[in-house]
Amino acid sequence: MEKTTSDWQATDRAHHLHCFSDTKALAEEGCRVITRADGVYIWDSDGNRLLDGMAGLWCVNVGYGRKELAGAAYRQLLELPYYNNFFKTSPPTAIELAGLLAEITAPHLNHVFFTNSGSEANDTVFRLVRRYWDLAGKPGKEVIISRDLAYHGSTIAAASLGGQKPMHEQGRLPIPGIRHIAPPYWYRDGGDLSPEEFGKTAARWLEEEIDALGADQVAAFIGEPIQCAGGLIVPPESYWPEIQRICREYDVLLVADEVICGFGRLGVWFGSDYYRLQPDLMPIAKGLSSGYLPIGGVMVGDRVADLLIAEGEEFFHGFTYSGHPVACAVALANIAILRDEKIIENVRDNTAPYLEERWNELAQHPLVGETRGVGFLRALELVKNKHTREFFDPVGEAGQICRDFCFKNGLVMRAIRDTMVVAPPLTMTRDQVDELIELVNKCLDLTANEL
Ligand SMILES: *Cc1c(COP(=O)(O)O)cnc(C)c1O
Repeated sequence: MEKTTSDWQATDRAHHLHCFSDTKALAEEGCRVITRADGVYIWDSDGNRLLDGMAGLWCVNVGYGRKELAGAAYRQLLELPYYNNFFKTSPPTAIELAGLLAEITAPHLNHVFFTNSGSEANDTVFRLVRRYWDLAGKPGKEVIISRDLAYHGSTIAAASLGGQKPMHEQGRLPIPGIRHIAPPYWYRDGGDLSPEEFGKTAARWLEEEIDALGADQVAAFIGEPIQCAGGLIVPPESYWPEIQRICREYDVLLVADEVICGFGRLGVWFGSDYYRLQPDLMPIAKGLSSGYLPIGGVMVGDRVADLLIAEGEEFFHGFTYSGHPVACAVALANIAILRDEKIIENVRDNTAPYLEERWNELAQHPLVGETRGVGFLRALELVKNKHTREFFDPVGEAGQICRDFCFKNGLVMRAIRDTMVVAPPLTMTRDQVDELIELVNKCLDLTANEL
């Protein structure tokens, strides 16, 4: 007999612990079962269609239903479903993907260390950074500086690198050797400063932290080019150049966490291209395979790679599924789609400017304090008073109400506190952008009524 929604919900309630969820509340409500997807749409087990404004979890860059990716996985599964790169061996797809990544990333990024996720990539960063300074003869340089509201994953080092207070509280994190400075959140903290002035000020918080610790203690600075899961914090233009200057001046490695910003999300291949960054290490995941299979990695710049290799010593680190042949085959096919169909160019020249224009119209809504974003990342702030930039109290309620209206009305839009966020598949068309804006408007009206 065919299973029904309530069958699934019963088994889910009895046996399934969900990520980042209140299990008790979810059990009462019953989870929504997503059964299939195509293009920019997903369907639930009751047959409702939703416009997926989040590309899954910021990852389905080429959209759902791409047969080329299914075919690449199927062929690889038959040919060689598994082999590793521990035993002086490697599957061909891992080698080819390493070569292709070196080609599409900046000229100084020529090596990759494969992982299965962004979290593992950031745990790898943590170990690589310390390994690098040990080899460089400066083992005292061991502190990594990150930012409040950063999201770098859920494993121990990644969650510690992140700046999510509720995560830290549940695991007695961060682990030692990690410091956090405030993020460049102009709308919240900018006060009377212009974005440009504020960007410089926020960057200098890094300099102050380095000065306080002593540069001989500081190993690296890590940041997402745009802080995504922390509330789509778009730094002012003045921020990254100043951060890069400080890292160079104090001989601190720069780590750009490109897990979301990479693979076209900003209308260019990488966030580092957009902000003209030259990171020493660059974690990647999500859009690397458009989420069709789990895969991540760390792009390792020549400075770090050269020393690691020159030393001729084993780096005791790796995962059973690092460079998994099937995940690599899918990533290769995914990058081929992004390239051959000029999806990123189309985002840059056509659909992102249109999304920006339509999204910014939402700023006229009485609930919306600010609209912001780059490329196919867009956010709006729900506020109590848009003239005084006053937030709702308690924070997060308005966002939840809005998010629930979206779900009920056929739209996946995420709430981060009271910041509403979209990150659609890069294949979204102009007509679908119109559909998105119409749905957002409707849900904002419903939210305003309820509040
Ligand atoms: C999602 C995310 C991660 C963690 O990736 P997982 O694959 O969930 O482990 C790390 N960094 C950033 C910026 C992310 O958005």
